Amino acid sequence: MAYTYDDQNIFAKILRGEIPNNTHTETEHTLAFHDIQPQAPHHVLVIPKGAYVTADHFAAEASDTEVLDFWRTFAVICSDLRIAPDVGGGYRMIANSGHDGVQEVQHFHLHVLAGRPMGRMLQPG
Ligand code: 5GP
Repeated sequence: MAYTYDDQNIFAKILRGEIPNNTHTETEHTLAFHDIQPQAPHHVLVIPKGAYVTADHFAAEASDTEVLDFWRTFAVICSDLRIAPDVGGGYRMIANSGHDGVQEVQHFHLHVLAGRPMGRMLQPG
């Protein structure tokens, strides 16, 4: 895999503590924090602490421990915010990746959006 990680991206700076963030949950391998420009009443970003550029990069190269920790942290967020469909209104998760995915920050992140109906999945164009 030919990904090159740019350690000057904004989330790398957040992970190094160079830029503040509003943390929701932090574990050994994962950080979840509130998006600075929320698109819904709940808008949390979940990121691995490791240097992964995209979702597929993370899925292919992260260790089992990192992958498990990431998804367990996601589950904690759903539970804490009471957004899982069995207890709440549900959510949308998005991982914009690469040019066509319109990924702005080049460190893999999962958007977790909830608190209102999200509308259709994609807009035309
Ligand atoms: P992307 O378009 O890469 O999927 O999403 C990047 C997200 O990062 C955007 O929703 C944007 O609001 C968020 N973001 C960009 N800079 C910062 C920041 O400094 N702090 C936080 N908490 N979120 C940021």
